[in-house]
Amino acid sequence: MSDSLITFIPQEPEFVPAVQAQQLGISLVKRLSPGAEAIRVECTDKLRLIDCGENFERIACPLCDRNIELSWWNEQVNQVMSRNSLVPTTLPCCGTAKSLHELTYEWPQGFARFSLEVMNPPNPDFAETHVGELERVLGCDLRVIYTHI
Ligand SMILES: [Zn+2]
Repeated sequence: MSDSLITFIPQEPEFVPAVQAQQLGISLVKRLSPGAEAIRVECTDKLRLIDCGENFERIACPLCDRNIELSWWNEQVNQVMSRNSLVPTTLPCCGTAKSLHELTYEWPQGFARFSLEVMNPPNPDFAETHVGELERVLGCDLRVIYTHI
């Protein structure tokens, strides 16, 4: 039995919405996806990598679109975690400088201090159709991450 998780994270990885906005966000998601198994918010001082699990296909450079080696990327993730900050890094493909949060991920992944997770929503397409409403409530642009576990 596998699980599917939809996680909303701010496009700006350091951003954490105010507590009241978080609560409004939870209420909104409860309304948009009645029957979801669990809806929860997580806030951490540490940056976290929100990955897409089995949906992972590739990581690429946002500029030249060449694939990025997983071994190189894993090493960079370790550095982000130990520094607890995202800084532009020179990419091995074409030498452009981007933070790991800015790479092309298929499917989407990203780094966050704030996340709002929805476990096994019966209507997963609510995330695409209603992301604008949730952005207004939380006060930030969002990235939607679909994780298959
Ligand atoms: Zn490149």
